[in-house]
Amino acid sequence: MSLLVDLKFVSSISHLLRNFKKKADYLWNFSCPICGDSKKNKLKARAYILRSQKNRDRLAFKCHNCGESFYFDELLKRLDESVYKEYVYDSYLERTDGKAQQTEKKEKPPAPTPFPKKTYRPLKPTALIGCPSIASLPPEHPAKTYLLERKIPEPFLKQLYWTDDFPSVVDKVCPGHQFALKKEGRIVIPFLDANFGLIGMQGRALDKNSIRYITVKAFEEAPRIYGLHRLGNTLNKKRIYIVEGPFDSLFLPRCLAVAGSDIPTGLPIDQCLIVYDNEPRKPETCDKIAKAIQRGYRVCIWPDTIKEKDLNDMVLSGYKPDKLRDLIDKHSYAGLEATVRLQHWRKY
Ligand SMILES: [Zn+2]
Repeated sequence: MSLLVDLKFVSSISHLLRNFKKKADYLWNFSCPICGDSKKNKLKARAYILRSQKNRDRLAFKCHNCGESFYFDELLKRLDESVYKEYVYDSYLERTDGKAQQTEKKEKPPAPTPFPKKTYRPLKPTALIGCPSIASLPPEHPAKTYLLERKIPEPFLKQLYWTDDFPSVVDKVCPGHQFALKKEGRIVIPFLDANFGLIGMQGRALDKNSIRYITVKAFEEAPRIYGLHRLGNTLNKKRIYIVEGPFDSLFLPRCLAVAGSDIPTGLPIDQCLIVYDNEPRKPETCDKIAKAIQRGYRVCIWPDTIKEKDLNDMVLSGYKPDKLRDLIDKHSYAGLEATVRLQHWRKY
């Protein structure tokens, strides 16, 4: 528990609190959810979240009508069990981060760092409140088992979610499209923009009889791209990888997944490396590579020694993600050389 984590979660429950208003730094006012505050006058608001007097590193809840008061985490627990679980997980990360830094300090004097260490912790989109992150699920949950078996890197399990009722989440992200969908559980893969705004999502079914992936956009013009939030500053000239599947994209840094659509326009072409699946017998894949070369992109032409179909399969057969990246970089070509390589690679 820390002030930082508490502060982050205030916005996660604000929509559950009637007449919620920020009054000052560390002070929010709303109608008390415990006593109803009040049955007669819906405008009454006598409850507060504020910095605890006993422990300045925590927020607390206090109602001046019913007199209830407790720490902020207790309020979370009573309002939304799944948000509370997220909170417990984040607090755990915060504590272990802190510990790691403390032991480092003991071992050697702190070296001056030119840049402050960046902590990468995107906020959960509001539309997904109520969906637990995969990380917070018990180990025997089928979604967690599935992703761990696919060797998805653990940090990303915090950015993938689960819902027992996919249509109800679709209703929140993109109202009006949920009626055609079967009520079932799915892994939720949120498509975020560079500012961590939700622009769409993909639902992955675990049931083999269901449509495997369903993609919805939050608004009509939203690009069908997963991973824009991972790009960071594109002006630094670092390479951007573009792959097909969202799960595959998690094995490479600064990697986008096009999720079945075309390569988006607007990216710096000279920085992009297109990595399509290893399907030399599939005409569609070969055509897509040819088109990318024509548009001036650098593409990966897999060596014949690789038999696996996609990045995830390669990881499952023993490739470490950094070796995979080396392999891709080494087998990337542009222009005429790419065209020649493609001619040799295609098998139909
Ligand atoms: Zn009250």
